[in-house]
Amino acid sequence: MTTKTKLIAGNWKMNGSLAGNAALIEILREHIGRPASEVVVCVPAPYLQQVQGLLAGSPIDLGAQDVSAEPQGAFTGEHSAAMLKDFGVRYVIVGHSERRKYHRETDEEVAAKTAAALSHGITPIVCVGETLQQRDAGRTAEVVKRQLAAVIHVNGHCISEIVVAYEPIWAIGTGQTAAPEQAQAVHALLRAQLHHAASEHAAGIRILYGGSMNATNAADLLAQPDIDGGLIGGASLVAPNFLQIIAAAR
Ligand code: PEP
Repeated sequence: MTTKTKLIAGNWKMNGSLAGNAALIEILREHIGRPASEVVVCVPAPYLQQVQGLLAGSPIDLGAQDVSAEPQGAFTGEHSAAMLKDFGVRYVIVGHSERRKYHRETDEEVAAKTAAALSHGITPIVCVGETLQQRDAGRTAEVVKRQLAAVIHVNGHCISEIVVAYEPIWAIGTGQTAAPEQAQAVHALLRAQLHHAASEHAAGIRILYGGSMNATNAADLLAQPDIDGGLIGGASLVAPNFLQIIAAAR
C-alpha cells in the first residue's frame, strides 16, 4: 500500500464558458475545505487566464489538456509549455486517448510532449489505456506497457516527475467503469514496469485511474493499493459530484 498524497484531476475536455466556469469554481471553492488530496482542474486553453484568476488562493491547481512538443514558431493552433507556464499551469494531460484517436498522436509524440512539459517544470499526466477490442484480444498488458515505455526514459528527466493515468478507452465517457479489481490489476502491472525502470522511485509515482469515475464508484476505486487518484471527465463538470470524489480520496 502506498501512502503518497492522492491526486484528483478534473478534465473539462471541450466544455465550459466564462459564466459556467465562474459558477463551477465558486461552488468548488465554497465547499472544498482542506482536501486530503491534491486537486487540479485541466481546462480548455482559452480559459486558462480566467480560471487562473478564479483559483487564486484556493487549494485547487490549474492544469491544461495538451501541450505542443515544439518550443515556439509556425505551429498554428498549438500552445507551448512556456505559454502554459505563463498562466501558472502545474499539470498538463498528455496522450489522452481522444488526442491519440482524433489527432493521431503517436507514442513518440506523447514522449516529446512529456519532455516539453518537464523541461518547463510542468508535471505531465501521461495517459495510457487499451480499447475494448484490445482488451478482448488479451492485449491490455502489451498496449499499456508499450505506451508507458515510451515515456519512461525521457532525456534528462527522472520518471518520478511524471504522473501516469490508466484510462481504459472503453470506460471513458461510457458510464462503464472498470471494476476496482480490474483496474488494480493493470495498475499493478504499470507499477511493476516502473519498478523495473527505477526501483527507488516506483512506489512514489502516482498512477491515476480514469474512466467514468463518479461519486458512487470513486471510494472503491481509490481504495485499491495502486490507485493513487483519479482523472475525471464528466463528473468534474458537476460541482457536487466532483466534490464527492475529492472527499473520497484519502
Ligand atoms: C477523461 O476524460 O479522461 C475521462 C476519464 O472521462 P470520463 O470520466 O467522463 O469517463
